[in-house]
Amino acid sequence: MPQDENTAVSHSHRATDSQNDVRYDAHRIETKWLERWRQDSSLYAAEPPSTRQKYYVLEMLPYPSGALHMGHVRNYAIGDALARYMWMNGYNVLHPMGWDSFGLPAENAAIQNNTPPRQWTLQNIAAMKAQMKRLGFAYDWSREVTTCLPDYYKWNQWFFIKLFEKGLAYRKKSRVNWCPKCATVLANEQVVDGCCWRHEDTPVEQRELEQWFLRITNYSEELLRDLERLPSWPEKVRTMQRNWIGRSEGTLVDFKLDGATDPTNSTITVFTTRVDTIFGATSLQLAPQHPLVDRLTRHNDLLRTEVDRLIAEQRKAREVGDIGEIEKHGVNTGRYAINPYNGEKVPIWVANYILMDYGTGAIMSVPAHDDRDYEFARKYKLEIRLVILPQASDPEETVVEPKLPFTTMQGMLVNSGPFSGMDCAAAIKAMSEHAETKGFGKATVTYRLKDWGISRQRYWGTPIPMLYCDKDGIVAVPEKDLPVILPENVDITLTGGSPLGRVPEFVNATCPKCGGPARRETDTMDTFVDSSWYFYRYTDARNDQAPFDREKAAYWFGDRGIDQYIGGVEHAILHLIYSRFWTKFMRDIGLVKNDEPVERLFTQGMIIAGGAKMSKSLGNVVSPDEMVEHYGADSARMYTLFATSPDRELDWQNEGVEGIGRFLSRVYGFVARNASSDSNRTAEAPLSPEARQIQRKLHQTIKRVSDDFQGRWHFNTSIAAIMELVNELYAVEGHVAAGDSPAKSVPASLLAEAQRTLALLLAPFAPYLAHEIWEMLGEKGSLLRAPWPKYDPALAKEDEIEIPVQINGKLRSRVVVAADASEDVVRQRAQTDEKIATMIAGKQIVKVIVVPAKLVNIVVR
Ligand SMILES: [Zn+2]
Ligand SMILES: [Zn+2]
Repeated sequence: MPQDENTAVSHSHRATDSQNDVRYDAHRIETKWLERWRQDSSLYAAEPPSTRQKYYVLEMLPYPSGALHMGHVRNYAIGDALARYMWMNGYNVLHPMGWDSFGLPAENAAIQNNTPPRQWTLQNIAAMKAQMKRLGFAYDWSREVTTCLPDYYKWNQWFFIKLFEKGLAYRKKSRVNWCPKCATVLANEQVVDGCCWRHEDTPVEQRELEQWFLRITNYSEELLRDLERLPSWPEKVRTMQRNWIGRSEGTLVDFKLDGATDPTNSTITVFTTRVDTIFGATSLQLAPQHPLVDRLTRHNDLLRTEVDRLIAEQRKAREVGDIGEIEKHGVNTGRYAINPYNGEKVPIWVANYILMDYGTGAIMSVPAHDDRDYEFARKYKLEIRLVILPQASDPEETVVEPKLPFTTMQGMLVNSGPFSGMDCAAAIKAMSEHAETKGFGKATVTYRLKDWGISRQRYWGTPIPMLYCDKDGIVAVPEKDLPVILPENVDITLTGGSPLGRVPEFVNATCPKCGGPARRETDTMDTFVDSSWYFYRYTDARNDQAPFDREKAAYWFGDRGIDQYIGGVEHAILHLIYSRFWTKFMRDIGLVKNDEPVERLFTQGMIIAGGAKMSKSLGNVVSPDEMVEHYGADSARMYTLFATSPDRELDWQNEGVEGIGRFLSRVYGFVARNASSDSNRTAEAPLSPEARQIQRKLHQTIKRVSDDFQGRWHFNTSIAAIMELVNELYAVEGHVAAGDSPAKSVPASLLAEAQRTLALLLAPFAPYLAHEIWEMLGEKGSLLRAPWPKYDPALAKEDEIEIPVQINGKLRSRVVVAADASEDVVRQRAQTDEKIATMIAGKQIVKVIVVPAKLVNIVVR
């Protein structure tokens, strides 16, 4: 980059510097160090497993879209600061990076730009890697993982076969979004307002296709229970996972379809958490996708149309993201079901707020005792029947009818046959047992979590390593034949089903069992498979015999997993549940010893601009390249840490980046002018008050920055503290020892120590400048491995002062307190002073006057 294009920072700081001959030139400094770091390929390399304490810090790997955005920079700046801090604290640090590089955008780009997905993806990776290097992120590139390359996805296939062998991968029919014009399956995000994203006038249909599923539900209970073992995860993430797993205890009850022609297929199983209210059930509600609904609407076009409308409404509500807020609609099927507890016939409805993926997709509706059922019954004028009364605290008391809906468990059953008079909890137990005895139901635990559908009818993903033989059925590809290579030069049109199905050389294979012809599976895997275990691969990224070496993984993961994982909260559920599941599976086949992949999780806040999410359409996107070009990498990344604490939303301000540039320029200028201070001269005499102030500030700053790293990561306050230190250094500039007045002199050794500490403290936040000033100070060793500075609590402490204590205006004692002690502390210290306490004993204190840092006067009677 030409020097003259890069003057924004240098110009802006001139006015503030006392001498403008020392000019902070971010580009000169950063290009110089970039080149030095480039020549040292082992600079950020993790050492082999050793006795040294390990620290595994990881940022979520990006999708290679082609360019980093500011959200990435913030994410990586946090991780990088931590990695550098841990290196300086003597840890063996693993800080790797990779690419989550399969997925649909590569196929879309292939169609738009006529570039093969592989080529497009690898180009993007190269571009983003260059950006990361320019930003100065300290990654161990020898461990780079690229999920779209065969050396990685081979192990996805290997894991899939292990899952298949354990019965954890299976096929079943499942509904998919189908565009009849494209003649292909659409991902949920390709359905827009119920229509195809490419054919806005074509409603998406639901079709049943055979798909591969992973039996994550085998681990529901453990996934839920082990959330308790993750106290260092954000509570909101744990809550989201708890809700996603959605455990509920309840009862399954079989209702019979009244007048069923086929008695073997006439059971409607309902799941309820409140079987105690079942005598108040006045209808059954089915999800629109419930299998029975197809049967009931088969010869009823009007009903079918109405059900389709309910399906569309439900899909729309899901797209908006809040199905709970859906405006409730339903349609009466005209058929009845029989309540097995009392033989009563209740009408069967289909409703848009009932979800097929919760419970059984069928509920009993008890309007008197459920909010949603009440709302629905009022709307459609269904009967509302009271079966629970509030429990009287006193048996003599007459119970008043409650305001409906009455939903609490603190009640007693009425109008409920033999169960009347029981309290709710007892009734649930008795009624569940009754159902089991009579063979029409039982107590159960259900989970909202469903098995993980991983089939994608897409090209750019890991081929599922399975074969179909007419004689042997489904056969796994033998391990020695892995990887099943994703063919290149495939015609990607996004229409007409799975692209791999159109490649005969791929589809036609030989059955490993009988040697006869077999057909290869043409679906590829969900890309969440790739990200479910990639962080284990980093521990042994070039292994071609196994996904990774067990001992290496055991060293880096320890008992509790990755020491610190950092990423966006949008991955709180899918990625982080799938990878927890994957870890538990790997543990069960003996690959790892840890039960959980991640010990500590941090989710950074989003970056917005002008109060809105950055987006091309709003024209408010801030590009990292522009920031680096304008202000330098140090300023850009330090700003993302300084603008607010890392967990909060950050509203981008270019002026803020400029401000950081000015600060760095002040640091540079100060060191440029003072680096040569003779640091060998030690101060023998006691420090002048001015020097003591610098020394105190220095130790306080080390303490604040260290505490923030150990604590809540409020790097904004860390950086603010460093800024204050620099201000104080500026205030004493020119007062170096042997100056005019001894009271104002600062020993050269102290000034040298201050500058050295400044380089160390800045290293995690502004590594380029920190390295530069480290060198300017004459330091030879690597700053990355230089020991993090220690503070001396005694030196960090504010000085103590003596304050006279009066009683009724007469001097009676003196107390010693910290110079910055609060009024309360001073007041308390005065009253508990031994002499004072004796003198005021038994007297009434009228008031205590505190003159800060001067005097305490206690007025007694
Ligand atoms: Zn279409
Ligand atoms: Zn065969």
